[in-house]
Amino acid sequence: MSKRQLVIFTVGPVQSFIASARKTEDFWSGSYILSYLVREAMKALYQAAPHCEIVYPLVTKEELENPSSRHLHIASIPNRFTAIVNGEAEKVEAILQETDQSVRNVFCDFCFQAIDNVFPFLLDHEKEKLKTTTEAQIRSFLEIYWVAEPYDETESFRQIRERAERRLGALKNEKRYGSVPQHGLVCTVCKEREALCLEDIDEFDRYGAMKQKLVRTWERRAGIYKEPEENSEQEQYVGRIKKNEFLCGICLGKRVARDYFTPIFETAGTKFRIFPSVTEIGSGKYYAIVMMDGDNMGKWFSGENKEDYSRISRKLAHFSQEVVPNIVEKDYHGRLVYAGGDDVLAFVPVDEALKIAEELRFAFSDEKKGLGKGATASVGLIVAHKKAPLQLVLNEVRRLEQKAKSYYSETTKHQKDALAIAVHTRSGEISEAVLPWTVEQEKITDELHQFLLLLKESLSPTFIHHFTQAFYPLLHEDYHSKWENKEMVRTELRRLLKRSVKEGAKINNLDSHVETLMKLYDIVPSGYDFLYLLKILTFFKRKEGTEK
Ligand SMILES: [Zn+2]
Repeated sequence: MSKRQLVIFTVGPVQSFIASARKTEDFWSGSYILSYLVREAMKALYQAAPHCEIVYPLVTKEELENPSSRHLHIASIPNRFTAIVNGEAEKVEAILQETDQSVRNVFCDFCFQAIDNVFPFLLDHEKEKLKTTTEAQIRSFLEIYWVAEPYDETESFRQIRERAERRLGALKNEKRYGSVPQHGLVCTVCKEREALCLEDIDEFDRYGAMKQKLVRTWERRAGIYKEPEENSEQEQYVGRIKKNEFLCGICLGKRVARDYFTPIFETAGTKFRIFPSVTEIGSGKYYAIVMMDGDNMGKWFSGENKEDYSRISRKLAHFSQEVVPNIVEKDYHGRLVYAGGDDVLAFVPVDEALKIAEELRFAFSDEKKGLGKGATASVGLIVAHKKAPLQLVLNEVRRLEQKAKSYYSETTKHQKDALAIAVHTRSGEISEAVLPWTVEQEKITDELHQFLLLLKESLSPTFIHHFTQAFYPLLHEDYHSKWENKEMVRTELRRLLKRSVKEGAKINNLDSHVETLMKLYDIVPSGYDFLYLLKILTFFKRKEGTEK
C-alpha cells in the first residue's frame, strides 16, 4: 500500500460562478467567492493533514492563515489545487471527504448570512424556509471533484499526475448532480434557479399571483438593501437589490458578498474596497476589459518531477500575486477581478487598455516577472459603451480571448500568442481585429504605438474615413481574403497618408510609416482585420486624454 497520495481537488462550476452578472460587483464577487472557497478547502486540508504539501498553487499554510492584506481583494486562487498528502488511500479519501464537506458548509454559511442580513425581520421559521431552498440550490449547483492517486517513487511525478488528471476528467463526465424541482418564478439574475419566496407556489397559480408572492417576500428586505428614496444620502446603497429584482439563494449571496467579506478584510488589517461600477472605470463613456490566458500551460506543467512542477507554481504565484496587481492597479488605473495563475481579468480605462494588455503579456514571458522565455499568452481586449449589457460584454471578451488563442498564420506559422481586440460603439458599430504579439521576435505593439503617434502628431482625423472609402470596395466577398496586389496597397497607403496630413504638420520619413503599416498588413489574417485595426487605433487615439 502506498503511504502517500497525490491529490487534485477542484471547485466549480467556474463558468456559472462568474457568469450571470448584472453588475461588475456581481462579477467580482462570483470570482472572489470561488477563489475564497478553494482557499478554505486548502485550509481545511492543512488542518486535517498538517504535513501535506500543496504543490499548486503555491500557497503556504502561513499565507492561508494570515493572507497578505495588500492584494486580498483580488481573486488569486485558481479553482483547483494539487497536493501530496501522507497516508494510505483510505485515510486520505476520508480527509478529502471532510474537506469537500467543509467547502459546502462555508458556502452555505455564506449564503445563510446573506439571508440573515437582507431579511433581518423575518420570523425564524420564515428564514428557515428560505435557507432550506438555498441549501438545495447549493447542493445542485456546487461541483466539487477530487481524486487521490497513490504516489510511489517507482513512477515519475508526471506519470502519476497525468493518471490523476485522467481519473478526474472521467469523474467530471459522470455528472452526479441532480436538479432541484422548481415551481416558482426564476431568479432575475441567473434566470436558472427559483427566486427565494416565502409563500408556497400553488401549481395553479398564474404568473401574476406568483409575482405578487415574490413582491411580498422581497418587500420585507431590510431598508438598506432597497433603493434609496429620492434625494436621500444613502448613495452607497443605490440599487443593491432593485425593486424588480428577485434573487435565488446563490445570486443573493453573491449580490451582498461585500457584507460577508468586509469584517474578514478588517481582521486582515485592510479596508474592503467596493468593486467600481463600469461608470466609475476611467472617464468618458467607454471602458475596456482585458482578459489574458497563458498558452500551452499543460506543457509548462509537464515536468517529470515534483520540483519542476513546484518551480512553475512558484513563478505563477509571483506573477499573479505581485506582478499583475502592480501593472493593473499601481502603474495604471485598472481594477483586477481575478489573477489566478496564468488567468487574468481586469476592467481598465480605454486609454490605458492597450498598454496594460501589452505589459501583462510581456511580463508573462519575462524571466524575473513571469514564466520566462518561451512563455506566451493570448489576450482578448474589448472596448464597450458603459450602457452596454455587462453580460454581453463579458461573453464577447471571452470569445475574443478564444479567437486570439486560435490565431494561426499560414505564412509565419505563428500560433496562438495573439491579441484579439474589438471596439463596440454605442451606435452598434463593431470593429474587430486579431494580430500576433510578436513578429520575428519583435513586439508588434511597437508598430501600433508608432501609428498612434503618427495619428496624434501628423494625421488629420479624416484619415480613417479616406482610408475606409478607398479600401473597403477592394475587399473580396470572401472574409479571409486580402488585397492581392501588395504593391497597390503600398502605393495607396502612401497616397492616403500624404493626403491626410494635418494642417500645419508634416510627416517625416513617410516611407518608414508606410512600411510600418505594411508590416501590420502582413500579419493580420484578412483585409478586414487591417481596416478594423486602423479604425480601432483611431478610436483609441480619439479617446486618449480627451475625457479626463
Ligand atoms: Zn440566481
